[in-house]
Amino acid sequence: MVNNNYMHIKRIKEYAIENKIPIMQNEGIDFLTTFIIKHQIKNVLEIGSAIGYSAIMMSLCSPDLKVTTIERDEERYLEAVKNVKKLNLEDRITLIFNDALKVKIEDKFDLIFIDAAKAQNIKFFELFEKNLKESGYIITDNMYFHGLVHKNEKEIKSRNVRGIVRKIKDYIAFLKDNDNYNTTIYDIGDGIAVSEKKTKGGS
Ligand code: SAH
Ligand code: MG
Repeated sequence: MVNNNYMHIKRIKEYAIENKIPIMQNEGIDFLTTFIIKHQIKNVLEIGSAIGYSAIMMSLCSPDLKVTTIERDEERYLEAVKNVKKLNLEDRITLIFNDALKVKIEDKFDLIFIDAAKAQNIKFFELFEKNLKESGYIITDNMYFHGLVHKNEKEIKSRNVRGIVRKIKDYIAFLKDNDNYNTTIYDIGDGIAVSEKKTKGGS
């Protein structure tokens, strides 16, 4: 069974490369799964499932971990459905086909993982923090945006990309200024931000 999982995951990664789907890099996945185990995370809300790769990797951390994940691209969503089935994780991964900015989620989570449209990070954060438990974490991927966040803006030729880079910088400022969370940005993978909710009455 373990070997079977390994084969499925290998194929999912190959599919991602062939179809240019920006799944999390190995280093980032290692960080995320280690974090989940260390903090005994039991339920995760993910924004941006793509083909289900990170949701599957998180679920495999622990047999009692549940993931709810949202994807707006139909083709990717359908591929995610297939992949989750292959790994027999249907009862632990809930896939939602919708725009995350339109969907209503009532549950509370130990961890919210934001990995969708990079220009919308502030919106996702503000929309979903109500779904975070009292002492929970919000993790955001691609804080370096393929290294471009540290580049001189003049060197970035595409206006669209420049716009996204600016939005990520705004998001970094937003996290740093947010008194309700302690945020650390780790130099891992494509840059990972961990925002820990401060408990009421604590420092
Ligand atoms: N977490 C995945 C990769 C996600 S890639 C992994 O590491 O395996 C980002 C995905 O977010 C894309 O598939 C994109 O379609 C989706 N996305 C972007 N904006 C979204 C939105 N507003 N709502 C839902 N999904 C969104
Ligand atoms: Mg990512």
